[in-house]
Amino acid sequence: MSIIENKFRDNVIITSADKFMNWARLSSLWPITFGIACCAIEMMATAASRYDQDRLGVLPRPSPRQSDLMIVAGTVTFKMASRIKRLYEQMPDPKYVIAMGCCATSGGPYWKHGYHVMKGVDQVVPVDVYVPGCPPRPESLLEGFIKLQEKIRRESIATTQAA
Ligand code: SF4
Repeated sequence: MSIIENKFRDNVIITSADKFMNWARLSSLWPITFGIACCAIEMMATAASRYDQDRLGVLPRPSPRQSDLMIVAGTVTFKMASRIKRLYEQMPDPKYVIAMGCCATSGGPYWKHGYHVMKGVDQVVPVDVYVPGCPPRPESLLEGFIKLQEKIRRESIATTQAA
């Protein structure tokens, strides 16, 4: 949370600053990639030359401290959940999460009998965009990036970040 959040109402200065800040944020999303099962293969394909996610300004980073986006791609076991939360807490604000695939969004094929699987990563970190599929194709993840960019475009530095 920034020091000016919820201190001002919309005015010409805040609105102009919003446009600039949002443009900068949505044009340079740096994800810490969290590939924990088969969905990670499609996430890697999205970053490769054929789908070229770089053209959206999405550049993978190796450290949570350099990242403002977490892509959770795969099955979230109870054992892994605490690691996901810890990495999320190490990311600086503002930060965003994409849940990629039905495992990360709801437990997927493990929803009924997966005693070891969380029924959605949103039980441990706030999710901004859900990308459905088992696994989602790279086009779906690209659409998820675009949805997140649309969400960031509506944010204001003067109000609390939308969950
Ligand atoms: S959603 Fe499907 S492809 Fe993705 S991690 Fe789960 S089982 Fe694998």
